[in-house]
Amino acid sequence: MADIHPILKQYWGFDSFRPLQQEIIESVLNGNDTLALMPTGGGKSLCYQVPALAKEGMCLVISPLIALMKDQVENIRKKGITAFAIFSGMSRKEIVNTLKIAGNSNCKFLYVSPERLETALFKEYLPGMNINLIAVDEAHCISQWGYDFRPPYLRIAALREELPGIPVLALTASATPEVQQDVCDKLQWPPQTSTGEVLTNALKSGQSLFGFNIFHQSFERPNLSYSAFEADSKINKIIEILLKVPGSAIIYCKSRKRTKEISELLHLQNISADYYHAGLAQEDRNRKQEEWILNKTRVIVCTNAFGMGIDKPDVLIVIHADVPDCLENYYQEAGRAGRDGKKSYAVLLYDEKDLHELENLTAQRFPPLPEIRNVYQAVSNYLQIPSGSGQGESYDFDIADFIKKFKLNSHTVLFSLKALEQEGWLAFNEQVFIPSAVQFIAGKTELNEFEKIHPELDIVIKSLLRAYEGIFDQEVSISEWVLTGLMKKSTDEVKEQLKQLHRYGIILYRPQKDSPQLFLLRDRIKAEDLMINMTEFNRRKEKFRLRCKKLIYFTREKTECRSRMIASYFGDASLSRCGICDNCLRQKALVLSKEEFENINHRIINSVKDGPLSAHELLLKLTGIKKEKAWKVIEFLQAENKIKMDKDGLVSVQ
Ligand code: ADP
Ligand code: MG
Repeated sequence: MADIHPILKQYWGFDSFRPLQQEIIESVLNGNDTLALMPTGGGKSLCYQVPALAKEGMCLVISPLIALMKDQVENIRKKGITAFAIFSGMSRKEIVNTLKIAGNSNCKFLYVSPERLETALFKEYLPGMNINLIAVDEAHCISQWGYDFRPPYLRIAALREELPGIPVLALTASATPEVQQDVCDKLQWPPQTSTGEVLTNALKSGQSLFGFNIFHQSFERPNLSYSAFEADSKINKIIEILLKVPGSAIIYCKSRKRTKEISELLHLQNISADYYHAGLAQEDRNRKQEEWILNKTRVIVCTNAFGMGIDKPDVLIVIHADVPDCLENYYQEAGRAGRDGKKSYAVLLYDEKDLHELENLTAQRFPPLPEIRNVYQAVSNYLQIPSGSGQGESYDFDIADFIKKFKLNSHTVLFSLKALEQEGWLAFNEQVFIPSAVQFIAGKTELNEFEKIHPELDIVIKSLLRAYEGIFDQEVSISEWVLTGLMKKSTDEVKEQLKQLHRYGIILYRPQKDSPQLFLLRDRIKAEDLMINMTEFNRRKEKFRLRCKKLIYFTREKTECRSRMIASYFGDASLSRCGICDNCLRQKALVLSKEEFENINHRIINSVKDGPLSAHELLLKLTGIKKEKAWKVIEFLQAENKIKMDKDGLVSVQ
């Protein structure tokens, strides 16, 4: 097998791999289909980039977010590696062009957004491309039971059939065992017998099971102390904590407005703080982030837009000023504390209002059918789509203007669109790009003269002529991406040079427009005829409700170890109590007399000797005994192997 360390050093300058990276890379290089679960910022990209570089040929990367895809391609190109991308907003001609260039260059990475996986087109070009690996980023989007289900991801299975024997690496930050299983099924990995068991075993060993491997980092964070407080005044509690515990901190809030408010309140206490959210200009965001990383700012108050890919080891405390909407996010965000291994804190602040909102979240995220129909109708009217047409068309869609004109609730609109998307009626992606266009206006002689005086612009001219036929005669859609590949320059440099040519009157350059697009996947029909597969919709809804319920439980729970609750949520029942979360500490503080202990011990054994009971049923049987005390003895008996608790929480005699 190729030695992968020199690749890591040569292209990234890193000396060592992060946890699991090497195992995942080796699994892929051995030709195994692999599912890798790593937290956001854990370094998933490297897991497919290194093996692709270690082998002949190129890696096909399926990635859902265009903005992230562009970042990735840009970063790879900076390392001098050839990479291309195909996404919505590109014309068919451009796609064909990109496929051709990718096949005829030493391209190592071809990024494709899933809705562009047009079977016919790929069938034609794939055989000539020497694909060495298929990487599926954000692989949980393929699961129909996950909240983030994206129907175009289902096309990946068909793609696989075109590329038999090529290993698939599926990457995701968060997936419950059920979603993991579904990912494996949808990718048509060999069937398994019993979901939970196989996956749990795989989690522990990382060994090959039925021809594919699953890798998962341990959920154990032995230096991170989780706690949750119900707080009347969250700001007072935040100040109290920050004054008590010194060191770098992140405070997560739900709204952009609140980040600023809290930051200002902290200033009044002379606590060094700044705020951060996605609505700020890029340079402000970079500056704020940098100052915080360098510890010039102590506290960053932010929305969940902050933190992706940031690797600051010395964060001592992460406070959630609002309850996030799922344990996946909570675990990731809280997990940014204590990367350096020092004792650190994750504090979740909540009030009844937060929990109440969580209870209502399901209804909000899954609007009733009449509301979905209403939004469909309004969208069709807004875009003036004649009935019986529209399929395959894409429209500029200014959602804010739409909401205002039709006086609709923004949540209803957003989540109805999501439902329509998941049902295959339309696609409303994030920002989609209307490509740039170029037309030559100088004649050939003029151009020759110009190139002599401006040799620095020679390469951009040559690249344009090389990549785009007919560019002399008519306006042609171009992609700065393709040009950056040919010119080995950054997009900014390419754009600047195109602007210069425009200023010199050599070309007409119309830079690309970022505007949200709505694609219609089927012709417009009457709203009352619009059907949704209610079985699937309701099933997703139920899963979502359960997800909220588990988070509410986690927040309110006063006895169970928080690390264990998190790990078992992700399917790992093997963790022992962390001993440092608020609940563990409460347990430790609990003093039992010998008589009390004997009494509880006796009653527990008596209750379960005739058959297993759920922990809940067992506690109900122990009338008159404080729950905390009962738990303490249960833990003790478990540690002594007198009783055992299985992954479903059933307690039985050992
Ligand atoms: P993910 O996709 O898991 O969220 P990324 O692949 O975007 O994470 O990587 C996050 C950051 O971690 C990147 O800046 C990357 O360069 C860095 N990184 C990845 N692997 C390593 C490593 N072995 N050593 C140091 N930094 C790494
Ligand atoms: Mg990633």
